[in-house]
Amino acid sequence: MPHTDYEVERNAMVDAQLIARGITDRRVLDAFRRVLRHEFVPDSLKKQAYEDHPLPIGEGQTISQPYMVAIMTESLGLKGSEKVLEIGTGSGYQTAILAELAKEVYSIERFADLADAAKKTLDGLGYKNVTVKTGDGTLGWQEQAPYDGIIVTAGAPEIPESLIKQLKESGRLVIPVGGTFSQVLTVFTKKKDKIISNEICGCVFVPLVGKEGWRVSQRN
Ligand code: SAM
Repeated sequence: MPHTDYEVERNAMVDAQLIARGITDRRVLDAFRRVLRHEFVPDSLKKQAYEDHPLPIGEGQTISQPYMVAIMTESLGLKGSEKVLEIGTGSGYQTAILAELAKEVYSIERFADLADAAKKTLDGLGYKNVTVKTGDGTLGWQEQAPYDGIIVTAGAPEIPESLIKQLKESGRLVIPVGGTFSQVLTVFTKKKDKIISNEICGCVFVPLVGKEGWRVSQRN
């Protein structure tokens, strides 16, 4: 079979799934044209990597639909100088997109095998501004705080207090909040002592499982 880097499929994804649905940030769109999404999915699914839906990555988890990754990323409003925390590394695809757009990215994954695989993929693709660790991301990453942006790629029952505490003044937290089967993607902005919230759209994410998320007994 001829080698392909799926450039045609990747550009078609950006045009038909992102631009056509209202993603306008030029830096975000360029990052989606650059990042090799097929490197983040299992070999058997590479041909489907640029399709308009999530895909399984192991441990019952998924790499999110490209549009959802894009709207969450755009909502962070990154300019290039930021320190960002990601909760839910999964395949590492969203991590790579963030690494293209921010100065430093810290990412936490609950499952060690997913974190290790994502680290390997990100290293192999040459990302130097990313640090991945295994742990409970609902508690944040205090040693590296505060953050300009925090993105949670799993559905939370409510905003984890630790994440709000680790956000800089004017920093944004992008997080799906709601039940285990559907949530509302919400952006929380820290302004003085207030938290301003802005609902973006409905969404369906795997659950955020941890001390300040769902308990394992509630949902695994
Ligand atoms: N952004 C990922 C990507 O591009 O592949 C997709 C993430 S997937 C939808 C959600 C991830 O969040 C899963 O890998 C899951 O194991 C992880 N997760 C759930 N609860 C977590 C927690 N408390 N801390 C860290 N990761 C968590």
